[in-house]
Formats: sequence, structure tokens, C-alpha cells
Amino acid sequence: MEPLKNATKWGDRESAHIKVTEPLKKFVFQHLDMDPDTLPKKYPQKKTLDAILGDSHLSATFQSELTQLIDKTQITTDPWTRITNSLGQGYVESLRSRFSDIPAVVELVVFPHSHEEVVKVVQLANKHKVPLSTVAGATSVTLGIEPSLGIIAVNLTQMNKIIDVNPEAQYITVESGILGPDLEAQLKTYGLTLGHFPQSFEYSTLGGWAATRGAGQNSTLYGKIEDMVMGMKFVTGLGETLITRKAPARATGPDINHILLGSEGTFGIITEMTLRVWKTPRKTRLSAFFFKSFEEGLLAYKEILQNGYRPAVMRISDSEETYHNIVAQALMRDTPKMPFSYRMLLGLLEKKGYKDGTRSMGVLSFEGDPALVALTFKQAKKSFNRYKGVYIGSRPAKSWYKRRYELPFVRDPLIDHGILIETFETSTTWDNIMILYRVTRKILKPECPILWTHGSHFYPNGANLYFTLVAPQKEKDEFTQYYRIRKKVLDTFQAYGGTLSHHHGIGRSFISNYLAEIGDEGLKTLRSIKNALDPNKIMNPGIFGLDSKLS
Ligand SMILES: Cc1cc2nc3c(=O)[nH]c(=O)nc-3n(C[C@H](O)[C@H](O)[C@H](O)COP(=O)(O)OP(=O)(O)OC[C@H]3O[C@@H](n4cnc5c(N)ncnc54)[C@H](O)[C@@H]3O)c2cc1C
Repeated sequence: MEPLKNATKWGDRESAHIKVTEPLKKFVFQHLDMDPDTLPKKYPQKKTLDAILGDSHLSATFQSELTQLIDKTQITTDPWTRITNSLGQGYVESLRSRFSDIPAVVELVVFPHSHEEVVKVVQLANKHKVPLSTVAGATSVTLGIEPSLGIIAVNLTQMNKIIDVNPEAQYITVESGILGPDLEAQLKTYGLTLGHFPQSFEYSTLGGWAATRGAGQNSTLYGKIEDMVMGMKFVTGLGETLITRKAPARATGPDINHILLGSEGTFGIITEMTLRVWKTPRKTRLSAFFFKSFEEGLLAYKEILQNGYRPAVMRISDSEETYHNIVAQALMRDTPKMPFSYRMLLGLLEKKGYKDGTRSMGVLSFEGDPALVALTFKQAKKSFNRYKGVYIGSRPAKSWYKRRYELPFVRDPLIDHGILIETFETSTTWDNIMILYRVTRKILKPECPILWTHGSHFYPNGANLYFTLVAPQKEKDEFTQYYRIRKKVLDTFQAYGGTLSHHHGIGRSFISNYLAEIGDEGLKTLRSIKNALDPNKIMNPGIFGLDSKLS
């Protein structure tokens, strides 16, 4: 079997443009006040493989009935498959895999091939009161697939077919286990796109996006996943089929789609979805801007949106993230060097008051019909001018585009060297955004020598803030260090008007603060829906803390 730490390894690093070179590592170590020659950490091993796999809690009858319903080739107890279906991509999970300290793993993994097979598995699990964990791409960063004892995984990745494409009315019906690249590649043959490109695009699935209310990098134009859904096919926790018929819009009582979207597997399993799609953009214009400060950049972005224009991608990094982006680009080259033209540009900007330490870089993409792209770009530039934004061409934006799924490749080598790295994200209204930004930074900076922030999802009324935290691990205190920081982040978000999450979801990571997020009546509502759809409480136990006492 592979080393356990590879169970949380992110993606295919060999083909990546992003490289963790020795100079880049040294730059990070220096910022964290670590020895520049730090070697990979030897994580003490806490459990043997046998102890991790544990004793079986499943009855022989359940297992034998399962094999009568589902072909044996679709069921496995292979240890590696069990482990990789039990770990998502949160920092805690990266620690667990490195320390061999995995609290529980699923007992077996079933790979259904159809809605009907999902129904059969859920009905059987009800009969035997066996809990189920729905697993798809396993890219959750909120302990969304953390198993409890005696649980089995229903892995949806074999349910990946496009069922119907209607180019005329621009909608598609798709099985929920399809991965991002497979979905977009097939849509491309029809000249269509869904327009949903999360950073985890290559390894996450449609159903996972819907179950967590995810957001893609082009969300300003295409919306979050919940804006794309026209109808769904769903298996409730009782194994019954719930269908919401497709419609462009409806007024038929509360929208059931929105009860299922974001339910993170705890009400049941999404098996199919009908989604609105768009024509592949005829024109895409990538561009980059510098602002004198993060705040001025945000004001310019607000103006564009409030004037009714919609670039597809809108991102802006604060000064620390801007600075590190610029340096890292240079340090990732085989011979670390910044291109001459870029050095000249930065020198010029410095002279004009776009100072290193306060300046902020924005990246945008304008896409769609060429006339609309030209107009949106022109109007955006006007807003930027008003806030002293300076257009620096397309190159930095093209470079971002090329590497847009790759920053996570940096994470594993850093954790290997005893570094904590994790992201948290929130959203708030324009009138509050700088307050939330400043206070979060003030509270976290003493513990996190590297603290990046960017906004990447923008609305006429506000935006998200995405924080990347990097700190040296506290030796022998790695888990509690993280839990302490996490609590600080969540408390700060809530105390200063942010949401617990804009697109990662709640999972099991944020339940300490969930009651404060939705209130007693909100919790009562969710619990009553859970009781109706999953009365035996077998679906993803622990999600949102619905089964436990929240305080
Ligand atoms: C490096 C990295 C970058 C990321 N970038 C983004 C980003 O840009 N935007 C974003 O929104 N998120 C992002 N994420 C978070 C993660 O990728 C998303 O939450 C994603 O939507 C999860 O999809 P998945 O297929 O991997 O689901 P999983 O991780 O397998 O499951 C996530 C949750 O959804 C449930 N679930 C999955 N499929 C179904 C289904 N069909 N029916 C019912 N429940 C289901 C699971 O039980 C679990 O609770 C990122 C994560 C990583 C590690």
C-alpha cells in the first residue's frame, strides 16, 4: 500500500506549472522564522494500519444482502479505497494521514451505477440501520466525509453520464458523480459551458458542488451552483425518490431544490441534476490592474457591479498576497528571476505611488458576446480610473489563468516540512467588508506570519473574503493549535458580520458555531426536514451537528 500521507495528496503535481523550488521553500521558511535548511518533518506514527481499519461492525446478513442487490465488482473492502473514501482535503485530514491518526474509516465502499442502485442501497441501509456516508470527489475541506464507526460509503463517481442535452433551451441533465473536466469536455462538443470552475475543478463533482453550494471562479457572471439548478433527482434518507421538475423559474411554494442544495448529504443523495448552461463564450478578455490599496480596488469592483456590469472572473489580492504572488512567480522559475519587463513595470508603479506593501493586484476576465465584452471592459476601466486603478495588460491575468487550479500543489510540501496551511472564507456586505477584513487580519496575524486575503466572488451588495493562513506548526500540539486558530476565525467572522462560509460549506468542522449562524428556529427547521427525509438518521451523521446538542 502507498504511504498513508498520500491518501490526502492533492492531484497530479508532475504536470503542474507551479513548482515548489528550493528558493521558494527558503523564502517561506524565512517568513515563518524557520531554519532555511529545514528538512521534512518526521511525523510520529500513532496507529498501525490494522488499528485504523478496526473491527467490522457490519453484520454478515447486511453484507450478503448487499451483494444480492449490487454486483460484487461494485463493492470493495480494499483498505486503500476505504481510507481514501474517509479523508477529505482539510488541514486536519492532512495531519491525520501524516500522523496515521485517523479516528475511523468506512467499512466498505459501494459504487452505484444508477439512481435505482442508490435507492436499493439506501433502503437496505435503512432496514439494517447502517449509516451511510456519501462520497464523491472527496475534496471537502470541512470534514464533510469524515466517517463515524460502522459506516459505509456510497461513492458516486461511477454515475457520470450526461443524460440529456438541449442546446435550444440551453439545459442539460447529468448524473451527479461527473467530474468537472468530463462535464465541460462533453458540453464543449455542443458549444456549451456550465461556467462552474472551482479551484478543485479537476477532482470535484457536480453533486459535491451542489451538496455544498459551491462557487466557481467565474461566479460573478454565471452565479454559484445553486443559481444553475433547474431540477433534481434525489434519494431521500428513506430510499424514496424525490424529483423536482425542471423549470426556468417557478412559484409553487418553497423551492425544494433549495432545501436539497447545500444539504451536504444529510437529507439524502442527489443522483441527477438539470442545469442551465451557456454558449461557449465567443470572446474572452483577460486583464490585470494594480490599485494603490485593497480598499480602492474593492470600491472599484463594487462600482462596476452596482452599475450593472458583470465580468466573469473578478479577483483582487490584498497587499500581502500581491507581494507574495509577485515574488513566488519569480522564485518558481528554474533560475529564479523576474522578467525584465515586469521589473520595469513594478519600478514605474512604485514611482507613481503604487507602493510595494500597500498595492493590490486585480485579475479579471470578461467573456461572452464580443460586443458585450468590449462594453463591459470599457465601463470597468472607467470605474477603475476613478479609483486610480492602472491597467497593466493581460500577461499577469493569463499567468493566473494557466495556474488557476494549481496553488493547492504547494500545500503538501509545506505540511511535509512542519507548516500549517489552511484556508477560511466568508462573505459580507459592502458596508462591512473592510471592517471584517481588518479585524480578521488583526486577530490572526500574530499567529500566522503569512496571511493572504483575496476577494474572488463579487455581488452588487457585497463579496466574499478568502483567507490563506500559513504558520509554523506547534510541535506536539499540531491539532490543538489548528482547532484554536479555527475557533478564532469562526468567532471573528460571526462577531464582525461575516458568514461561516461563502462556498466551502459547514460539514463537521464548523458546527461549534452553527447554532449562532442559523438560530434556534433555523436549527428546528433543519431538524424537522431531517426527521422527514431521514427519520432513521443514517445519512452522513454529524453534518451540521443536527444529531447532537448544539450550544
Ligand atoms: C484545493 C481545493 C480547492 C477548492 N476550491 C473550491 C472552490 O473554488 N469553490 C468551492 O466551492 N469549493 C472549493 N473547494 C471545496 C470542495 O472542492 C467543494 O466543497 C466541492 O464542491 C466538493 O465536491 P466533491 O465532489 O469533492 O464532494 P465530496 O468532498 O466528496 O463531498 C462533499 C460533501 O457533499 C456531500 N455530497 C457529495 N456528493 C453528493 C451527492 N451527490 N448527494 C448528496 N451529498 C453529496 C458529501 O457527503 C460531503 O458532505 C476546494 C477544495 C480544495 C481541496
